[in-house]
Amino acid sequence: MRRWNGWGQDSTDYPLPESARTYLAGLIGSGSTTADAPMDQLLAAVPVSRLPPNPLLSLEAKDRLLHACGQSLPDWVGLHMGRLPAFPDAVAYARSEEDVRAALAFCRKSGAALIPYGGGTSVVGHINPLPGGLPTVTLDLSPMQRLLSLDETNSVAVFEAGVRGPDLEERLAARGYTLGHFPQSFEFSTLGGWIATRSCGQQSFYYGRIEDLFAGGHVETPVGAIDMPELPASAAGPDLRHLLLGSEGRLGVITRASVRVRRRPETEAFYGVFFPDWASGAEAVRQIAQSGLAVSMLRLSDAQETETTLVLAGKPDLTRWADRGLRLAGYRDQRSLLILGITGEHSLTRETLRHALAVCRRHAGLFPIAMIGRMWQKSRFLTPYLRNTLWSRGYTLDTVETALPWSRALPAAQTIQQTLRGAFEARGERLLVFTHLSHVYTDGASVYTTFLFRRADDPDETLAIWRAAKQAVSRAIVDLGGTISHQHGVGLDHAPFLEAEKGASGMVLLRSACRALDPDGILNPGKLLLAQRDG
Ligand SMILES: Cc1cc2nc3c(=O)[nH]c(=O)nc-3n(C[C@H](O)[C@H](O)[C@H](O)COP(=O)(O)OP(=O)(O)OC[C@H]3O[C@@H](n4cnc5c(N)ncnc54)[C@H](O)[C@@H]3O)c2cc1C
Repeated sequence: MRRWNGWGQDSTDYPLPESARTYLAGLIGSGSTTADAPMDQLLAAVPVSRLPPNPLLSLEAKDRLLHACGQSLPDWVGLHMGRLPAFPDAVAYARSEEDVRAALAFCRKSGAALIPYGGGTSVVGHINPLPGGLPTVTLDLSPMQRLLSLDETNSVAVFEAGVRGPDLEERLAARGYTLGHFPQSFEFSTLGGWIATRSCGQQSFYYGRIEDLFAGGHVETPVGAIDMPELPASAAGPDLRHLLLGSEGRLGVITRASVRVRRRPETEAFYGVFFPDWASGAEAVRQIAQSGLAVSMLRLSDAQETETTLVLAGKPDLTRWADRGLRLAGYRDQRSLLILGITGEHSLTRETLRHALAVCRRHAGLFPIAMIGRMWQKSRFLTPYLRNTLWSRGYTLDTVETALPWSRALPAAQTIQQTLRGAFEARGERLLVFTHLSHVYTDGASVYTTFLFRRADDPDETLAIWRAAKQAVSRAIVDLGGTISHQHGVGLDHAPFLEAEKGASGMVLLRSACRALDPDGILNPGKLLLAQRDG
Protein backbone atom coordinates (compact mmCIF):
# COMPACT_ATOMS: atom_id res chain seq x y z
CA MET A 1 0.00 0.00 0.00
CA ARG A 2 1.12 3.58 -0.65
CA ARG A 3 2.44 5.44 2.41
CA TRP A 4 -0.02 8.08 3.53
CA ASN A 5 2.61 10.32 5.16
CA GLY A 6 5.81 9.72 3.23
CA TRP A 7 7.18 8.46 -0.04
CA GLY A 8 6.33 5.24 -1.80
CA GLN A 9 5.02 1.80 -0.99
CA ASP A 10 5.09 1.00 2.71
CA SER A 11 6.62 -2.41 1.92
CA THR A 12 9.80 -0.71 0.63
CA ASP A 13 12.48 0.83 2.83
CA TYR A 14 15.86 2.42 2.22
CA PRO A 15 17.89 1.58 5.32
CA LEU A 16 20.60 3.97 6.47
CA PRO A 17 23.90 2.29 7.42
CA GLU A 18 25.42 3.12 10.82
CA SER A 19 28.37 4.82 9.09
CA ALA A 20 25.94 7.19 7.34
CA ARG A 21 24.29 8.11 10.65
CA THR A 22 27.67 8.94 12.16
CA TYR A 23 28.54 10.95 9.05
CA LEU A 24 25.34 13.04 9.23
CA ALA A 25 25.59 13.56 12.99
CA GLY A 26 29.16 14.81 12.51
CA LEU A 27 28.21 17.22 9.75
CA ILE A 28 24.93 18.69 10.98
CA GLY A 29 24.24 17.25 14.42
CA SER A 30 21.38 15.04 15.57
CA GLY A 31 17.80 16.05 14.87
CA SER A 32 14.54 15.60 16.71
CA THR A 33 12.97 12.17 16.46
CA THR A 34 9.55 13.25 17.76
CA ALA A 35 7.01 10.55 16.98
CA ASP A 36 4.78 10.97 13.93
CA ALA A 37 1.16 11.95 14.37
CA PRO A 38 -1.13 8.93 13.90
CA MET A 39 -3.56 9.00 10.99
CA ASP A 40 -6.49 9.23 13.43
CA GLN A 41 -5.22 12.61 14.63
CA LEU A 42 -5.31 13.98 11.09
CA LEU A 43 -8.66 12.37 10.32
CA ALA A 44 -10.09 14.07 13.40
CA ALA A 45 -8.83 17.41 12.03
CA VAL A 46 -10.72 17.07 8.72
CA PRO A 47 -13.58 19.58 9.00
CA VAL A 48 -17.18 18.96 7.99
CA SER A 49 -17.47 19.31 4.22
CA ARG A 50 -18.95 22.54 2.90
CA LEU A 51 -20.36 20.70 -0.11
CA PRO A 52 -23.68 18.85 -0.28
CA PRO A 53 -23.70 15.08 -0.82
CA ASN A 54 -23.64 14.19 -4.51
CA PRO A 55 -23.17 10.85 -6.30
CA LEU A 56 -20.02 12.27 -7.93
CA LEU A 57 -18.34 13.05 -4.65
CA SER A 58 -16.72 11.23 -1.77
CA LEU A 59 -17.00 13.27 1.42
CA GLU A 60 -15.10 10.61 3.41
CA ALA A 61 -12.47 12.07 5.74
CA LYS A 62 -9.87 9.53 4.62
CA ASP A 63 -10.25 10.35 0.92
CA ARG A 64 -10.00 14.04 1.77
CA LEU A 65 -6.88 13.54 3.89
CA LEU A 66 -5.17 11.44 1.21
CA HIS A 67 -5.74 14.19 -1.37
CA ALA A 68 -4.88 17.18 0.82
CA CYS A 69 -1.26 17.66 -0.22
CA GLY A 70 1.71 16.42 -2.19
CA GLN A 71 5.37 15.92 -1.33
CA SER A 72 6.66 19.43 -0.57
CA LEU A 73 8.50 20.09 2.67
CA PRO A 74 5.51 21.86 4.28
CA ASP A 75 3.39 18.86 3.20
CA TRP A 76 5.78 16.46 4.95
CA VAL A 77 5.85 18.53 8.11
CA GLY A 78 2.07 18.91 8.07
CA LEU A 79 1.41 15.18 7.62
CA HIS A 80 4.00 13.97 10.10
CA MET A 81 3.16 16.48 12.79
CA GLY A 82 -0.61 16.32 12.31
CA ARG A 83 -1.02 19.94 11.21
CA LEU A 84 -2.26 20.28 7.64
CA PRO A 85 -3.67 23.75 6.95
CA ALA A 86 -6.49 22.73 4.54
CA PHE A 87 -8.34 19.73 3.14
CA PRO A 88 -10.49 19.39 0.03
CA ASP A 89 -14.21 19.35 0.83
CA ALA A 90 -14.72 16.37 -1.44
CA VAL A 91 -12.88 14.01 -3.76
CA ALA A 92 -14.27 12.92 -7.12
CA TYR A 93 -12.79 9.99 -9.04
CA ALA A 94 -12.95 10.45 -12.82
CA ARG A 95 -13.52 7.25 -14.77
CA SER A 96 -14.33 8.93 -18.07
CA GLU A 97 -14.41 12.28 -19.84
CA GLU A 98 -18.09 12.39 -18.98
CA ASP A 99 -17.16 12.27 -15.27
CA VAL A 100 -14.71 15.13 -15.79
CA ARG A 101 -17.38 17.22 -17.50
CA ALA A 102 -19.84 16.42 -14.72
CA ALA A 103 -17.33 17.44 -12.02
CA LEU A 104 -16.59 20.71 -13.83
CA ALA A 105 -20.31 21.44 -14.22
CA PHE A 106 -20.93 20.67 -10.54
CA CYS A 107 -18.12 22.98 -9.42
CA ARG A 108 -19.26 25.80 -11.70
CA LYS A 109 -22.82 25.51 -10.47
CA SER A 110 -21.93 25.32 -6.79
CA GLY A 111 -19.10 27.87 -6.87
CA ALA A 112 -16.54 25.27 -5.81
CA ALA A 113 -12.89 25.12 -6.83
CA LEU A 114 -11.62 22.07 -8.72
CA ILE A 115 -8.09 20.72 -8.39
CA PRO A 116 -7.02 18.16 -11.00
CA TYR A 117 -5.00 15.45 -9.22
CA GLY A 118 -2.66 13.03 -11.01
CA GLY A 119 -0.25 11.10 -8.80
CA GLY A 120 0.02 13.68 -6.03
CA THR A 121 3.84 13.89 -6.36
CA SER A 122 4.10 17.67 -6.65
CA VAL A 123 6.92 19.11 -4.56
CA VAL A 124 5.86 22.76 -4.77
CA GLY A 125 2.27 22.81 -3.48
CA HIS A 126 0.38 22.26 -6.76
CA ILE A 127 -2.50 20.29 -5.34
CA ASN A 128 -3.10 21.81 -1.90
CA PRO A 129 -6.46 23.50 -1.34
CA LEU A 130 -6.04 27.10 -0.20
CA PRO A 131 -6.73 27.67 3.53
CA GLY A 132 -9.89 29.75 3.79
CA GLY A 133 -10.49 29.47 0.03
CA LEU A 134 -13.49 28.27 -1.95
CA PRO A 135 -15.05 24.90 -1.09
CA THR A 136 -12.88 22.50 -3.06
CA VAL A 137 -13.31 19.31 -5.07
CA THR A 138 -10.13 17.39 -5.82
CA LEU A 139 -10.61 15.48 -9.06
CA ASP A 140 -8.52 12.30 -8.99
CA LEU A 141 -7.74 11.15 -12.55
CA SER A 142 -6.10 7.85 -11.54
CA PRO A 143 -8.97 5.61 -12.73
CA MET A 144 -8.40 6.98 -16.27
CA GLN A 145 -5.37 4.93 -17.26
CA ARG A 146 -6.13 3.07 -20.46
CA LEU A 147 -3.94 2.79 -23.53
CA LEU A 148 -6.46 3.88 -26.16
CA SER A 149 -4.37 3.25 -29.26
CA LEU A 150 -0.87 2.64 -30.51
CA ASP A 151 -0.21 3.65 -34.09
CA GLU A 152 2.98 1.83 -35.07
CA THR A 153 3.28 3.58 -38.44
CA ASN A 154 3.38 7.00 -36.84
CA SER A 155 4.92 5.88 -33.51
CA VAL A 156 2.19 7.62 -31.54
CA ALA A 157 0.31 6.19 -28.55
CA VAL A 158 -2.82 7.66 -27.02
CA PHE A 159 -3.31 7.23 -23.28
CA GLU A 160 -5.84 8.44 -20.77
CA ALA A 161 -4.14 11.09 -18.68
CA GLY A 162 -4.31 9.39 -15.28
CA VAL A 163 -1.93 6.58 -16.26
CA ARG A 164 1.11 6.27 -14.00
CA GLY A 165 4.67 5.77 -15.25
CA PRO A 166 5.04 2.01 -14.65
CA ASP A 167 1.61 1.18 -16.13
CA LEU A 168 2.27 3.31 -19.19
CA GLU A 169 5.66 1.70 -19.80
CA GLU A 170 4.31 -1.81 -19.16
CA ARG A 171 1.57 -1.35 -21.77
CA LEU A 172 4.04 0.00 -24.31
CA ALA A 173 6.65 -2.67 -23.52
CA ALA A 174 4.09 -5.38 -24.29
CA ARG A 175 4.14 -4.05 -27.87
CA GLY A 176 7.92 -3.43 -28.00
CA TYR A 177 7.74 0.34 -27.38
CA THR A 178 8.76 2.88 -24.77
CA LEU A 179 8.02 6.54 -24.05
CA GLY A 180 11.32 6.93 -22.21
CA HIS A 181 10.00 9.52 -19.76
CA PHE A 182 11.52 8.63 -16.39
CA PRO A 183 11.24 11.37 -13.76
CA GLN A 184 12.48 10.17 -10.38
CA SER A 185 8.82 10.17 -9.27
CA PHE A 186 8.06 7.69 -12.11
CA GLU A 187 6.48 5.14 -9.73
CA PHE A 188 3.50 7.40 -8.95
CA SER A 189 3.41 10.43 -11.26
CA THR A 190 1.02 10.45 -14.21
CA LEU A 191 1.00 11.44 -17.85
CA GLY A 192 -1.45 14.31 -17.16
CA GLY A 193 0.72 15.54 -14.29
CA TRP A 194 3.86 15.41 -16.45
CA ILE A 195 2.20 17.57 -19.11
CA ALA A 196 0.62 19.98 -16.62
CA THR A 197 4.01 20.56 -14.91
CA ARG A 198 6.36 20.39 -17.94
CA SER A 199 8.15 17.49 -16.36
CA CYS A 200 11.58 16.26 -17.37
CA GLY A 201 12.70 12.62 -17.30
CA GLN A 202 16.20 11.51 -16.32
CA GLN A 203 17.13 10.52 -19.89
CA SER A 204 15.62 13.59 -21.54
CA PHE A 205 18.81 14.21 -23.52
CA TYR A 206 17.92 11.19 -25.65
CA TYR A 207 14.13 10.83 -25.33
CA GLY A 208 13.24 14.53 -24.94
CA ARG A 209 11.35 16.43 -22.26
CA ILE A 210 7.60 15.94 -21.98
CA GLU A 211 7.04 18.91 -24.31
CA ASP A 212 8.91 16.99 -27.03
CA LEU A 213 6.87 13.85 -26.38
CA PHE A 214 3.40 15.40 -26.03
CA ALA A 215 1.93 15.34 -29.54
CA GLY A 216 -1.68 16.36 -28.91
CA GLY A 217 -4.62 15.64 -26.69
CA HIS A 218 -7.99 16.49 -25.26
CA VAL A 219 -8.73 18.99 -22.50
CA GLU A 220 -12.02 19.67 -20.74
CA THR A 221 -12.42 23.26 -19.57
CA PRO A 222 -15.30 25.04 -17.82
CA VAL A 223 -16.27 26.66 -21.15
CA GLY A 224 -15.91 23.61 -23.40
CA ALA A 225 -13.39 21.13 -24.74
CA ILE A 226 -10.19 21.74 -26.65
CA ASP A 227 -8.83 19.12 -29.02
CA MET A 228 -5.23 19.39 -30.06
CA PRO A 229 -4.70 17.19 -33.11
CA GLU A 230 -1.48 15.21 -33.25
CA LEU A 231 0.58 16.73 -36.02
CA PRO A 232 4.28 16.24 -36.67
CA ALA A 233 4.63 20.03 -36.87
CA SER A 234 2.51 23.08 -37.56
CA ALA A 235 3.00 26.74 -38.46
CA ALA A 236 -0.67 27.51 -37.86
CA GLY A 237 -0.15 30.20 -35.24
CA PRO A 238 0.89 29.68 -31.61
CA ASP A 239 0.87 26.07 -30.50
CA LEU A 240 -1.94 25.39 -28.02
CA ARG A 241 -0.04 22.42 -26.65
CA HIS A 242 2.50 24.84 -25.27
CA LEU A 243 -0.20 26.72 -23.41
CA LEU A 244 -1.37 23.48 -21.80
CA LEU A 245 2.17 22.34 -20.99
CA GLY A 246 2.86 23.77 -17.56
CA SER A 247 -0.72 25.00 -17.08
CA GLU A 248 -0.83 23.28 -13.64
CA GLY A 249 -4.55 22.60 -13.72
CA ARG A 250 -5.39 26.28 -14.30
CA LEU A 251 -6.72 25.98 -17.86
CA GLY A 252 -8.56 22.70 -17.82
CA VAL A 253 -8.37 18.99 -17.18
CA ILE A 254 -6.24 17.00 -19.61
CA THR A 255 -8.15 13.79 -20.18
CA ARG A 256 -6.08 12.08 -22.88
CA ALA A 257 -2.80 12.67 -24.58
CA SER A 258 -1.02 11.43 -27.69
CA VAL A 259 2.63 10.79 -27.07
CA ARG A 260 5.56 10.09 -29.39
CA VAL A 261 6.91 6.65 -28.59
CA ARG A 262 9.92 4.69 -29.82
CA ARG A 263 10.89 1.07 -30.27
CA ARG A 264 12.55 -0.19 -27.09
CA PRO A 265 16.28 0.31 -27.37
CA GLU A 266 18.66 -2.64 -27.82
CA THR A 267 21.01 -1.16 -25.23
CA GLU A 268 20.43 0.94 -22.16
CA ALA A 269 23.59 1.19 -20.07
CA PHE A 270 24.97 3.53 -17.41
CA TYR A 271 28.56 4.11 -16.31
CA GLY A 272 30.22 6.02 -13.50
CA VAL A 273 33.14 8.26 -14.49
CA PHE A 274 35.19 10.12 -11.87
CA PHE A 275 36.76 13.52 -12.51
CA PRO A 276 39.30 15.21 -10.23
CA ASP A 277 36.86 18.08 -9.64
CA TRP A 278 33.45 19.41 -10.64
CA ALA A 279 34.75 22.05 -13.06
CA SER A 280 36.67 19.53 -15.22
CA GLY A 281 33.67 17.23 -15.21
CA ALA A 282 31.40 20.11 -16.25
CA GLU A 283 33.70 21.00 -19.11
CA ALA A 284 33.61 17.41 -20.39
CA VAL A 285 29.82 17.29 -20.02
CA ARG A 286 29.40 20.59 -21.91
CA GLN A 287 31.55 19.34 -24.77
CA ILE A 288 29.67 16.04 -25.00
CA ALA A 289 26.32 17.87 -24.93
CA GLN A 290 27.46 20.14 -27.74
CA SER A 291 29.04 17.38 -29.82
CA GLY A 292 25.80 15.85 -31.08
CA LEU A 293 26.64 12.46 -29.51
CA ALA A 294 23.50 10.43 -28.76
CA VAL A 295 24.15 9.89 -25.04
CA SER A 296 20.97 9.61 -22.97
CA MET A 297 22.07 11.06 -19.65
CA LEU A 298 24.86 13.21 -18.22
CA ARG A 299 24.38 13.65 -14.48
CA LEU A 300 27.35 15.27 -12.81
CA SER A 301 27.59 15.52 -9.01
CA ASP A 302 29.74 18.07 -7.22
CA ALA A 303 32.30 16.89 -4.67
CA GLN A 304 29.92 16.99 -1.70
CA GLU A 305 27.19 15.08 -3.54
CA THR A 306 29.75 12.54 -4.75
CA GLU A 307 30.92 11.94 -1.19
CA THR A 308 27.40 11.85 0.28
CA THR A 309 26.18 9.45 -2.42
CA LEU A 310 28.98 7.03 -1.61
CA VAL A 311 28.36 7.30 2.15
CA LEU A 312 24.58 6.81 1.86
CA ALA A 313 24.88 3.98 -0.67
CA GLY A 314 24.73 1.50 2.21
CA LYS A 315 27.77 -0.49 1.09
CA PRO A 316 30.51 0.68 3.50
CA ASP A 317 33.06 -2.02 2.48
CA LEU A 318 32.66 -1.27 -1.17
CA THR A 319 32.90 2.49 -0.71
CA ARG A 320 36.00 2.15 1.53
CA TRP A 321 37.60 0.06 -1.19
CA ALA A 322 36.57 2.56 -3.90
CA ASP A 323 37.79 5.48 -1.84
CA ARG A 324 41.21 3.90 -1.37
CA GLY A 325 41.51 3.14 -5.09
CA LEU A 326 40.44 6.63 -6.14
CA ARG A 327 42.88 8.29 -3.74
CA LEU A 328 45.71 6.14 -5.04
CA ALA A 329 44.79 7.24 -8.57
CA GLY A 330 44.93 10.90 -7.42
CA TYR A 331 41.16 11.54 -7.24
CA ARG A 332 40.83 13.08 -3.79
CA ASP A 333 38.34 15.17 -1.83
CA GLN A 334 37.18 17.30 -4.75
CA ARG A 335 36.38 14.34 -7.02
CA SER A 336 33.18 14.53 -8.98
CA LEU A 337 31.08 11.63 -10.24
CA LEU A 338 29.41 11.59 -13.64
CA ILE A 339 26.67 9.08 -14.42
CA LEU A 340 26.78 8.63 -18.15
CA GLY A 341 23.81 6.98 -19.86
CA ILE A 342 24.02 5.40 -23.30
CA THR A 343 20.89 4.26 -25.12
CA GLY A 344 20.17 2.92 -28.59
CA GLU A 345 21.33 0.29 -31.08
CA HIS A 346 24.36 -1.83 -30.09
CA SER A 347 26.60 -0.71 -32.91
CA LEU A 348 25.81 2.99 -32.43
CA THR A 349 26.07 2.93 -28.63
CA ARG A 350 29.54 1.38 -28.81
CA GLU A 351 30.70 4.28 -30.95
CA THR A 352 28.89 6.86 -28.80
CA LEU A 353 30.52 5.48 -25.66
CA ARG A 354 33.96 5.51 -27.29
CA HIS A 355 33.61 9.17 -28.33
CA ALA A 356 32.09 10.31 -25.03
CA LEU A 357 34.87 8.63 -23.05
CA ALA A 358 37.50 10.23 -25.25
CA VAL A 359 36.08 13.64 -24.26
CA CYS A 360 36.05 12.58 -20.59
CA ARG A 361 39.69 11.50 -20.80
CA ARG A 362 40.68 14.88 -22.21
CA HIS A 363 39.35 16.37 -18.95
CA ALA A 364 41.04 13.83 -16.69
CA GLY A 365 37.97 11.59 -16.43
CA LEU A 366 38.83 8.13 -15.12
CA PHE A 367 37.89 4.91 -17.00
CA PRO A 368 34.13 4.10 -16.96
CA ILE A 369 32.95 2.00 -14.01
CA ALA A 370 30.01 -0.15 -15.09
CA MET A 371 29.29 -1.31 -11.52
CA ILE A 372 28.60 2.27 -10.35
CA GLY A 373 26.31 2.75 -13.34
CA ARG A 374 24.44 -0.45 -12.47
CA MET A 375 24.11 0.62 -8.83
CA TRP A 376 22.69 3.97 -9.92
CA GLN A 377 20.25 2.25 -12.31
CA LYS A 378 19.11 -0.17 -9.63
CA SER A 379 18.35 2.58 -7.13
CA ARG A 380 17.19 5.31 -9.52
CA PHE A 381 13.58 5.16 -8.24
CA LEU A 382 14.54 3.91 -4.78
CA THR A 383 16.53 6.98 -3.69
CA PRO A 384 13.39 8.98 -2.77
CA TYR A 385 12.66 6.31 -0.12
CA LEU A 386 15.71 7.59 1.75
CA ARG A 387 13.64 10.63 2.69
CA ASN A 388 11.46 8.38 4.90
CA THR A 389 14.49 6.96 6.68
CA LEU A 390 16.09 10.36 7.13
CA TRP A 391 12.88 11.75 8.60
CA SER A 392 12.69 8.95 11.14
CA ARG A 393 16.34 9.66 12.09
CA GLY A 394 15.61 13.35 12.71
CA TYR A 395 16.48 14.93 9.35
CA THR A 396 14.53 16.51 6.57
CA LEU A 397 15.46 17.71 3.12
CA ASP A 398 14.32 19.72 0.16
CA THR A 399 15.62 20.52 -3.30
CA VAL A 400 15.82 23.63 -5.45
CA GLU A 401 16.48 23.55 -9.15
CA THR A 402 16.98 25.96 -12.02
CA ALA A 403 18.51 26.09 -15.50
CA LEU A 404 21.09 28.52 -16.79
CA PRO A 405 23.46 28.96 -19.72
CA TRP A 406 26.75 27.03 -19.43
CA SER A 407 28.71 30.21 -18.78
CA ARG A 408 26.75 30.85 -15.58
CA ALA A 409 25.81 27.41 -14.33
CA LEU A 410 28.70 26.62 -11.96
CA PRO A 411 29.02 30.10 -10.40
CA ALA A 412 25.24 30.07 -9.91
CA ALA A 413 25.46 26.73 -8.12
CA GLN A 414 27.94 28.26 -5.71
CA THR A 415 25.70 31.25 -5.02
CA ILE A 416 22.71 28.96 -4.48
CA GLN A 417 24.62 26.88 -1.95
CA GLN A 418 26.02 29.95 -0.17
CA THR A 419 22.56 31.50 0.06
CA LEU A 420 21.11 28.37 1.58
CA ARG A 421 24.01 27.96 3.99
CA GLY A 422 23.71 31.63 5.02
CA ALA A 423 19.98 31.32 5.72
CA PHE A 424 20.55 28.31 8.00
CA GLU A 425 23.62 29.73 9.71
CA ALA A 426 21.66 32.89 10.52
CA ARG A 427 19.52 30.65 12.73
CA GLY A 428 22.42 28.72 14.19
CA GLU A 429 21.86 25.60 12.06
CA ARG A 430 24.35 23.68 9.96
CA LEU A 431 23.37 22.48 6.53
CA LEU A 432 24.45 19.63 4.30
CA VAL A 433 24.12 20.98 0.79
CA PHE A 434 25.18 19.54 -2.55
CA THR A 435 24.45 19.97 -6.23
CA HIS A 436 24.43 18.13 -9.52
CA LEU A 437 23.94 19.13 -13.11
CA SER A 438 20.85 17.05 -13.75
CA HIS A 439 19.91 17.70 -17.36
CA VAL A 440 22.06 19.19 -20.07
CA TYR A 441 21.38 21.05 -23.28
CA THR A 442 23.64 22.46 -25.96
CA ASP A 443 23.30 25.93 -24.43
CA GLY A 444 23.18 25.20 -20.72
CA ALA A 445 22.31 22.88 -17.87
CA SER A 446 19.92 22.47 -15.01
CA VAL A 447 21.44 23.00 -11.58
CA TYR A 448 19.80 20.80 -8.93
CA THR A 449 20.66 21.42 -5.29
CA THR A 450 19.65 19.25 -2.34
CA PHE A 451 19.80 20.59 1.22
CA LEU A 452 19.48 18.45 4.29
CA PHE A 453 19.01 19.70 7.85
CA ARG A 454 17.88 18.67 11.32
CA ARG A 455 14.20 18.84 12.05
CA ALA A 456 13.18 20.58 15.24
CA ASP A 457 10.80 19.35 17.96
CA ASP A 458 8.52 22.23 17.07
CA PRO A 459 7.19 21.93 13.48
CA ASP A 460 6.77 25.72 13.31
CA GLU A 461 10.51 26.07 13.85
CA THR A 462 11.26 23.63 11.01
CA LEU A 463 8.86 25.49 8.74
CA ALA A 464 10.17 28.93 9.70
CA ILE A 465 13.78 28.08 8.90
CA TRP A 466 12.75 26.36 5.64
CA ARG A 467 10.60 29.38 4.63
CA ALA A 468 13.43 31.85 5.20
CA ALA A 469 15.86 29.70 3.22
CA LYS A 470 13.39 28.98 0.40
CA GLN A 471 12.53 32.66 0.04
CA ALA A 472 16.21 33.71 -0.01
CA VAL A 473 17.30 31.04 -2.47
CA SER A 474 14.34 31.63 -4.82
CA ARG A 475 15.20 35.33 -4.87
CA ALA A 476 18.86 34.48 -5.53
CA ILE A 477 17.90 32.16 -8.42
CA VAL A 478 15.84 34.79 -10.24
CA ASP A 479 18.48 37.46 -9.52
CA LEU A 480 21.03 35.16 -11.14
CA GLY A 481 18.82 35.11 -14.23
CA GLY A 482 17.90 31.44 -13.78
CA THR A 483 14.42 30.03 -14.23
CA ILE A 484 12.52 29.56 -10.97
CA SER A 485 12.03 25.94 -12.02
CA HIS A 486 13.61 23.69 -14.61
CA GLN A 487 11.31 20.73 -13.89
CA HIS A 488 9.25 20.91 -10.67
CA GLY A 489 6.95 23.70 -11.83
CA VAL A 490 5.51 26.73 -10.06
CA GLY A 491 2.65 25.60 -7.80
CA LEU A 492 2.27 27.70 -4.67
CA ASP A 493 5.91 27.95 -3.63
CA HIS A 494 7.31 29.51 -6.80
CA ALA A 495 4.30 31.66 -7.78
CA PRO A 496 5.78 34.90 -6.30
CA PHE A 497 8.84 34.48 -8.56
CA LEU A 498 7.14 33.75 -11.88
CA GLU A 499 6.88 37.38 -12.99
CA ALA A 500 10.69 37.72 -12.89
CA GLU A 501 10.79 35.31 -15.85
CA LYS A 502 7.58 36.14 -17.72
CA GLY A 503 7.53 39.93 -17.29
CA ALA A 504 4.44 42.07 -16.61
CA SER A 505 2.93 41.64 -20.09
CA GLY A 506 3.60 37.92 -20.03
CA MET A 507 1.68 37.69 -16.76
CA VAL A 508 -1.25 39.60 -18.31
CA LEU A 509 -1.30 37.05 -21.13
CA LEU A 510 -1.30 34.10 -18.73
CA ARG A 511 -4.02 35.62 -16.55
CA SER A 512 -6.14 36.37 -19.62
CA ALA A 513 -5.83 32.78 -20.81
CA CYS A 514 -7.01 31.56 -17.41
CA ARG A 515 -9.94 34.00 -17.41
CA ALA A 516 -10.94 33.00 -20.96
CA LEU A 517 -11.20 29.29 -20.19
CA ASP A 518 -12.16 29.59 -16.54
CA PRO A 519 -14.24 32.76 -16.18
CA ASP A 520 -15.32 31.92 -12.62
CA GLY A 521 -11.77 31.25 -11.42
CA ILE A 522 -12.55 27.77 -10.12
CA LEU A 523 -9.60 25.86 -11.55
CA ASN A 524 -6.81 25.25 -9.04
CA PRO A 525 -6.84 28.80 -7.59
CA GLY A 526 -3.60 30.28 -6.30
CA LYS A 527 -1.29 27.91 -8.19
CA LEU A 528 0.99 29.25 -10.93
CA LEU A 529 -0.51 32.74 -10.53
CA LEU A 530 -0.80 34.38 -7.13
CA ALA A 531 -4.28 34.11 -5.62
CA GLN A 532 -4.95 37.83 -5.11
CA ARG A 533 -4.29 38.50 -8.79
CA ASP A 534 -6.32 35.64 -10.21
CA GLY A 535 -9.31 37.72 -11.11
C1 LIG B 1 10.61 11.94 -5.19
C2 LIG B 1 10.22 12.88 -6.30
C3 LIG B 1 11.00 12.92 -7.44
C4 LIG B 1 10.66 13.79 -8.49
N1 LIG B 1 11.42 13.77 -9.62
C5 LIG B 1 11.07 14.53 -10.67
C6 LIG B 1 11.82 14.48 -11.89
O1 LIG B 1 12.79 13.73 -12.02
N2 LIG B 1 11.40 15.27 -12.91
C7 LIG B 1 10.32 16.07 -12.82
O2 LIG B 1 9.97 16.74 -13.77
N3 LIG B 1 9.60 16.15 -11.67
C8 LIG B 1 9.93 15.40 -10.62
N4 LIG B 1 9.20 15.46 -9.45
C9 LIG B 1 8.03 16.35 -9.36
C10 LIG B 1 6.70 15.70 -9.79
O3 LIG B 1 6.80 14.31 -9.76
C11 LIG B 1 6.29 16.17 -11.18
O4 LIG B 1 5.94 17.53 -11.11
C12 LIG B 1 5.16 15.35 -11.83
O5 LIG B 1 5.06 15.75 -13.17
C13 LIG B 1 3.81 15.53 -11.15
O6 LIG B 1 2.94 14.54 -11.67
P1 LIG B 1 1.68 14.03 -10.84
O7 LIG B 1 0.91 13.11 -11.73
O8 LIG B 1 2.08 13.49 -9.55
O9 LIG B 1 0.85 15.38 -10.67
P2 LIG B 1 0.21 16.01 -9.36
O10 LIG B 1 1.25 16.21 -8.33
O11 LIG B 1 -0.99 15.25 -8.98
O12 LIG B 1 -0.24 17.42 -9.93
C14 LIG B 1 0.70 18.37 -10.33
C15 LIG B 1 -0.01 19.50 -11.08
O13 LIG B 1 -0.53 19.01 -12.32
C16 LIG B 1 -1.94 19.23 -12.39
N5 LIG B 1 -2.51 18.05 -13.07
C17 LIG B 1 -2.28 16.75 -12.78
N6 LIG B 1 -2.97 15.97 -13.64
C18 LIG B 1 -3.64 16.81 -14.47
C19 LIG B 1 -4.53 16.63 -15.57
N7 LIG B 1 -4.86 15.41 -16.02
N8 LIG B 1 -5.04 17.73 -16.18
C20 LIG B 1 -4.70 18.98 -15.77
N9 LIG B 1 -3.87 19.21 -14.74
C21 LIG B 1 -3.34 18.14 -14.11
C22 LIG B 1 -2.39 19.38 -10.97
O14 LIG B 1 -3.57 20.14 -10.86
C23 LIG B 1 -1.20 20.10 -10.34
O15 LIG B 1 -1.26 21.46 -10.61
C24 LIG B 1 9.53 14.63 -8.37
C25 LIG B 1 8.75 14.56 -7.22
C26 LIG B 1 9.09 13.70 -6.18
C27 LIG B 1 8.23 13.64 -4.97
